[in-house]
Amino acid sequence: MSSVSFDYIIVGAGSAGSVLANRLSKDPSTSVLLLEAGPEDKSPMIKIPGAFAYFMYSKKYNWQYNAESVADIRHGQPVFCPRGKTLGGSSAVNAMVYIRGHRSDYDRWEAAGNEGWGYDHMLPYFKKSETNERGADDFHGDKGPLYVSNTQNTYPLNECFLKGSVQAGYPVTDDFNGPQFEGSGYYQFTIKGGERCGVSRGYLTPVRDRKNLFVECEAFVDRIIFDRDSDSTEKTAQGVEYTQNGQTFIATARKEVILSGGSFNSPQTLMLSGVGAKEELAQHGIDVVHDLPGVGKNLQEHVDACVLVKSKKKDGFSTSPTGLLKMLPDTLKYMTSKTGNLANSITQAGAFLKSSPEVDVPDIQMHFVPLLFDDCGRDLGLLSGHGYSLHVCVLRPKSRGKLSLRSADPRAPIKIDFNFFAEEEDRKVMVNGIRVARKILATEAFDEHRLEEIHPGPAVESDDALLQKCKDKLGLVYHPVGTCKMGNDPMAVVDSQLRVHGLKNLRVVDGSVMPSLVSGNTNGPIIAMAEKAADLILNPPSNTSAVQESRKTEDVHA
Ligand SMILES: Cc1cc2nc3c(=O)[nH]c(=O)nc-3n(C[C@H](O)[C@H](O)[C@H](O)COP(=O)(O)OP(=O)(O)OC[C@H]3O[C@@H](n4cnc5c(N)ncnc54)[C@H](O)[C@@H]3O)c2cc1C
Repeated sequence: MSSVSFDYIIVGAGSAGSVLANRLSKDPSTSVLLLEAGPEDKSPMIKIPGAFAYFMYSKKYNWQYNAESVADIRHGQPVFCPRGKTLGGSSAVNAMVYIRGHRSDYDRWEAAGNEGWGYDHMLPYFKKSETNERGADDFHGDKGPLYVSNTQNTYPLNECFLKGSVQAGYPVTDDFNGPQFEGSGYYQFTIKGGERCGVSRGYLTPVRDRKNLFVECEAFVDRIIFDRDSDSTEKTAQGVEYTQNGQTFIATARKEVILSGGSFNSPQTLMLSGVGAKEELAQHGIDVVHDLPGVGKNLQEHVDACVLVKSKKKDGFSTSPTGLLKMLPDTLKYMTSKTGNLANSITQAGAFLKSSPEVDVPDIQMHFVPLLFDDCGRDLGLLSGHGYSLHVCVLRPKSRGKLSLRSADPRAPIKIDFNFFAEEEDRKVMVNGIRVARKILATEAFDEHRLEEIHPGPAVESDDALLQKCKDKLGLVYHPVGTCKMGNDPMAVVDSQLRVHGLKNLRVVDGSVMPSLVSGNTNGPIIAMAEKAADLILNPPSNTSAVQESRKTEDVHA
């Protein structure tokens, strides 16, 4: 088994890991090893924004997780949990919507004791990360690696959605990430010149020739190596053990190991390495390095349900013979000019609205899709019809799920239990959200398109019946977070500098550290968080010692 040494080892080249690799390797005297379980992002399909659904079937570029089945959710079928597995991670397979969330999301983190994570602290990192097509202003940057562009609005149905929102009495906004979050409008996207601009293109490609940055693909990290024999109460992460081409390697970190494997894999790697709830580790025969009960807990997701409407017209997207015929000129247009439907995300318009007048901050997000779209495009029967869908998600779910190990085998996928709708509030927001969606879809703006509502179905009216219909087609927006949450309470996994509590030289930087889910899509927020993390690593706040503050551990298991 060979062993090599670096200053930093980053596990996972996704949205967070790629940002870190870029920023930490800026100084040529600092060596950085970036380990990615998936292959290089060579597939030309990654570049094509309209090829989104292709990756939902790919085992090569997608971990293809499934949540544990629940009898009354999707009729007992497991809920699909795609995650990107290549350079760029989930930013290589996502729908490219660029959203930051509401200012109060970050202020809530700060109020919970996470100093430096409030909105005013985060805004400079959002600006640093982007080059917005609209140019720089108080909210946007024009020099960052991530290109953010306007949609080209390729489907006339999108205009119906915006008109319908106004007719239903809702506001419109020109920039969800600017002064007015609330309203309906066109999304912006991480697309540049008709091609996806994920973090691989934005942050990695421009620096791949750095002599001090070592990127290894198809390199699966099995575990973190600790100085288990040391007498210190705080063990030190010394490196990682990883497998590549059937061979096992050890890489050691002179400064830090940073986990950026995403909200499912980072907690799994911690547990497999002996960091987690000691009772759970014992069940799998894993020696405890540090008893940290919050690992894998506090799982949150944007639960999503939809209203599906069959259309009289055939101007949306469909895999019907007419729809497929229309794709031929689309393909030609894309090949010759990188414009048209294939150059854009399939969801172009959306909204952040209040599910009821009593709510202060929008608590539902909508994605309008000009086709009959469910299960991440995997419901092929639906796709072959003509119609449109309005997806609604609960923005700040109260329910908390958990991850647990299936076995001590690093290749066994983690068990995912979302604990959907455990909280009454989530059920209420979901049902009211569907009513808001129906109100918009029932406006005059859609009259020339509307044939019939096929889901939940016009006869479904009561709260209970609507909730069950939501459950029958329940989906996700693929934003799992919180499983290594930042904080100071006994269930927190990392501190406000993202250092793992009770261990040395180990950080987690990815979606898993969000204490609570932001009100919107998570790629932009995770990239900004990684920008901040890079700053914390390179310029540690002067009042912090290498040894973390000790936390009270009583009541941990309460
Ligand atoms: C289908 C889909 C659609 C989405 N649409 C949007 C959208 O439109 N807008 C938006 O803002 N967000 C969207 N998201 C969410 C967003 O892309 C993710 O929240 C974000 O990319 C997650 O970043 P991350 O760094 O936490 O993890 P990831 O980007 O998932 O990166 C983790 C990386 O670590 C690697 N890895 C994991 N374990 C190991 C290991 N043991 N060894 C080595 N490498 C490992 C993985 O292969 C992966 O490359 C979507 C996500 C999906 C899956």
